[in-house]
Amino acid sequence: MPFDHDSLEILDRALKKLDAGFSQLPEFSPASAGAERMREVLVTLAEKLQDNYPYFHPLYAGQMLKPPHPVARLAYSLAMYINPNNHALDGGRATSELEKEAVAEIAAMFGWKEFLGHLCGGGTMANLEALWVAGQIHPMKIVLASDQAHYTHQRISGVLQLPFEKVECDSHGRMDMNALAKRAARGDVGTVVATLGTTATGSLDPLPEILALREKFGFRVHVDAAYGGYFALASNLAENAARSFASVGKADSIVIDPHKHGLQPYGCGCVVFRDPGVGRLYKHDSPYTYFSSAELHLGEISLECSRPGAVAAALWATQKLLPLARAGEFAKGLERGREAALRFFGAVNSGHKFIPAFAPELDILVFVPTGDSLREISAKSRQIFEAAARRGLHLALAELPVKFWRGMQEDGERTTVTCLRSVLMKPEHLEWVGRIVELLESCSRD
Ligand SMILES: *Cc1c(COP(=O)(O)O)cnc(C)c1O
Repeated sequence: MPFDHDSLEILDRALKKLDAGFSQLPEFSPASAGAERMREVLVTLAEKLQDNYPYFHPLYAGQMLKPPHPVARLAYSLAMYINPNNHALDGGRATSELEKEAVAEIAAMFGWKEFLGHLCGGGTMANLEALWVAGQIHPMKIVLASDQAHYTHQRISGVLQLPFEKVECDSHGRMDMNALAKRAARGDVGTVVATLGTTATGSLDPLPEILALREKFGFRVHVDAAYGGYFALASNLAENAARSFASVGKADSIVIDPHKHGLQPYGCGCVVFRDPGVGRLYKHDSPYTYFSSAELHLGEISLECSRPGAVAAALWATQKLLPLARAGEFAKGLERGREAALRFFGAVNSGHKFIPAFAPELDILVFVPTGDSLREISAKSRQIFEAAARRGLHLALAELPVKFWRGMQEDGERTTVTCLRSVLMKPEHLEWVGRIVELLESCSRD
């Protein structure tokens, strides 16, 4: 059985405790469709859900998918019996408190005690909010992000009607500092987005250098660490990554996605601002929702209105069980994925059939099969992707700049190559990396 069934008993226990808190209410029976019909529908649903890749299994090493921790699943389910709304204290008293605690722990991971922040639907919403604030502070000024930054920044800038430009990356997928310095010197840059952990390759923009340019040019620095943020806790990073994380607290705003590496179900992003004063930008004069207390309602500092309190319950419970501490169990899980990626890199690099782009900065490896032309390499990547899937090994494909591979030549108009990409997010990947390499090698014999 791949799924954990035992913990359902814990949910039953906790639900009884929750019941006890409402025992003084007059008896009533909530409307129900009847167990028999619900069972039928759910069994049909289970059948439909079988149509998925096995994201939870170590042989799924493709896209950024990591199963939520059982405690997150249980906490979410438990909170669903209340279904609190963290928009305002009226709708989610307990879970608003849990959200504030959990977000404070995330901010503390970056060294912040005073800050303003909250959970969002995901990294896209969190980045939207960060750029919305940036745009109010530097109206009409340019937003810069690297050409490997998540495409959402360009789209968000469009929504916010802020001018957006890309800065070229170097051969390691990091923002090129000469290109940034040159562009910033024109004086019209309002915000630079530094990605700590690009979505394609897990590369980190050199944050200390970006911050040094901020001193000179006065732009805001927003760190998009939606994917990589939790690696701030890892102790097995190489120099560029360790330096960038060491200075992350100097950024103006940070985005991190608990639903990527934080063991949460989808619907959990987080944005934090270094200056709590940005709260003034959210001011509105809604005549309703906020009458229960003088205390801060999360809806007063977020663009989204209704938000699930269950998300906060799940995150809080996970961080209680696995505190965000260096050398703690959670940090060790991240370190294992990174170690798996380093071993994978070593194995791919020492064989003759594949060529990795560069040593992974986090836990993502990109590599190509050998071949004589970009066309042949790209076609082989696709064949191997399919052959691997037939063997139960699920990788991903990516279209990346040729310059990520030393010695690989651009071919006329063609500046990118289709490559294989593997995200080793699960701690269990460390035990499975040998098997993953074997399966991969057997694919190239097809
Ligand atoms: C995933 C990701 C996003 C988008 O976040 P969602 O949670 O998918 O909305 C933004 N930036 C980076 C670097 C990401 O990896």
